[in-house]
Amino acid sequence: VVEFSGVSKHFGGHRALNGFDLTLHAGEFVALLGPSGSGKTTALRALAGLESTDAGTILIDGVDVSTLPTSRRDMGMVFQAYSLFPHLSAGENVEFGLRMRGVAAAARRSRAREALALVGLDDHYDRFSHQLSGGQQQRVALARALVTEPRVLLLDEPLSALDAKVRVTLREEIRRIQTELGITTLFVTHDQDEALAVADRVAVMRDGGIEQVGTPEDLYSRPASPFIADFVGLSN
Ligand code: ATP
Repeated sequence: VVEFSGVSKHFGGHRALNGFDLTLHAGEFVALLGPSGSGKTTALRALAGLESTDAGTILIDGVDVSTLPTSRRDMGMVFQAYSLFPHLSAGENVEFGLRMRGVAAAARRSRAREALALVGLDDHYDRFSHQLSGGQQQRVALARALVTEPRVLLLDEPLSALDAKVRVTLREEIRRIQTELGITTLFVTHDQDEALAVADRVAVMRDGGIEQVGTPEDLYSRPASPFIADFVGLSN
């Protein structure tokens, strides 16, 4: 369980997060949706320990994450794109986090192969980024995030650099894998179709806070404000 309570963060005079509250239940897939600049990435980075906060708490299974070093937060992360190490093969990229944790070479290799198989890239261990499509690169990034068996998976617009068809295929794949592993997942996106299609619940952000949280059906049938109705129904 991940709980953000009253989290605030400002950059200079600008409040990126303003009393941000959100709970992710164990095994849940939550999409954090909102317009550009609403604070989605800042919330995710705060959870990951990549950003400090000014107020509020973030708990993982009851433990305040600010007491844990970033390396002990036990999270897998996938960013927008271009995040693989270009001088390492796909397999070596996936092994990277295991190497950091001191896992022995043979075990690293077999776990990396398993993780690549999970994302449908069994035969791509020796490929380099430039030999992979954008979608395949994001699959490798996902394998790299999952190979350490983290408690929480953080996805920051992982599909936004891909073309429309690949985006739909990959979001279904991510959801399938997430369900299979039962891993608590926070998926940042500005694309309402994407959020509503895959998430158990969607949290809509506005100006650093949560405007509404609910199942896709809740948001469609009971939008809490004209902003939500507009954002969920009409824009894009
Ligand atoms: P996008 O979809 O465009 O990525 P977002 O909802 O993820 O937007 P954030 O990236 O969290 O929004 O940014 C929220 C606000 O905080 C924005 O106004 C942004 O300009 C500001 N901000 C974020 N990071 C920094 C920083 N390191 N320094 C200064 N301002 C920042």
